[in-house]
Amino acid sequence: MKVLKVDHIGVAVEKLDDALAFYTGVLGLELHGTETVEEQKVRTAFLPLGGTEVELLESTDPEGPIGKFIAAKGAGMQHIAYRVADIEAALAELKEKGVRLIDEKPRYGAGGARIAFLHPKATGGVLVELCERKGD
Ligand code: ZN
Repeated sequence: MKVLKVDHIGVAVEKLDDALAFYTGVLGLELHGTETVEEQKVRTAFLPLGGTEVELLESTDPEGPIGKFIAAKGAGMQHIAYRVADIEAALAELKEKGVRLIDEKPRYGAGGARIAFLHPKATGGVLVELCERKGD
């Protein structure tokens, strides 16, 4: 398995507009776009920086993963996403090595990326996302 780069860092926020005021207005990052991902029950904003991106995640439903995360832990760092060239091969390899997965099969995330999450219990407490994008 080959990890190509840190694709993005996911940050759970209470209110996207408030978070954007900080990330763009104070840090000076550029907003690349926002997108609602129904399946994940989130509204996301991407801010590219230095070859990677900050992904801000606002919950659209308290029962969704971000809604539950914020209820349990509060807003803050939520996941780190690693770009892989072949997500199916990566998942097969992890499975073979006995790594606990949240997603056995890839699903679609923001920007049409194919994504899958690894269980934090298998990664030292960090929610890890694998991410494959077209054009790699
Ligand atoms: Zn992500």
